[in-house]
Amino acid sequence: LEALSKALKEKSLVLERTSITDPLTGLHNRRFLTDHIDIDIAASLRRAQETRAAGGSPADTDCVFFLIDVDHFKRVNDEHGHAVGDAVLVQFGRRLRSVLRESDYLVRWGGEEFLAVARDTDRARAEELAERMRAVVADAAFPTEAGGPLPVSCSIGFACLPFVVSRPHAFGWQEVVRLADMALLAAKRSGRNTWVGLHAADAAQPEGLLARVQAGPQAALEQGEIHLTSNRPHELVLQALSHGDAKATPWPFS
Ligand code: GH3
Ligand code: MG
Ligand code: MG
Repeated sequence: LEALSKALKEKSLVLERTSITDPLTGLHNRRFLTDHIDIDIAASLRRAQETRAAGGSPADTDCVFFLIDVDHFKRVNDEHGHAVGDAVLVQFGRRLRSVLRESDYLVRWGGEEFLAVARDTDRARAEELAERMRAVVADAAFPTEAGGPLPVSCSIGFACLPFVVSRPHAFGWQEVVRLADMALLAAKRSGRNTWVGLHAADAAQPEGLLARVQAGPQAALEQGEIHLTSNRPHELVLQALSHGDAKATPWPFS
């Protein structure tokens, strides 16, 4: 009976691990994130609040959400086949993982899109991490078994939680991911191999802010409610956030 119970426990552990793991890349999947992130965020916000209550200023209590999407990945499949595409995704995940801290989450969010979450960090370090992820992908071509090395790049959009620092509970993480997604689209439209961060101004009013940004990012920027950071010229990204054809940019990267 004891042996049977042990075997059952092991089996259930394996099942549990499988249910939170992406089979292709071995990274965590969406389920892992949704299982853990609420508790993590609550702990970070509590820590910040306690520090403030004790008269200090909180350090390393931000969470940064990075959405990372492989550029023109459809072409990799079309030109080199699905197996090469799969191998590129595996390497892609490994490269991203190599520049993250152990405590950061890296999740295969879907298809060729990944979500990295830097936890208990400072938003001032977000740009540097975005650049490290961009560079670790683009700086060296990906070896393939059959053909020659393949140049790959990615686009990254990110936003921080708390989004409005003075109102830490005003935005949930799903809303922050929505903002990161808008930033990702701007990165694509800015020419790819690009990162874009979307930040709220200190004095921004969180009520209705997400809807205002979605309806007219240009207006929110002009009114100083939000601001952008990017490795690309500011004017280019500004324009990209509002309009432009994401599919019309060169490849592998300009
Ligand atoms: P963009 O730069 O705008 O992101 O262009 P894209 O071609 O990367 O984007 P699009 O969304 O048009 O294509 C994504 C492709 O990713 C289409 C889909 O077949 C492929 N894909 C999704 N999951 C997998 C996978 O597990 N393996 C392989 N080989 N391909 C996948
Ligand atoms: Mg893509
Ligand atoms: Mg995609």
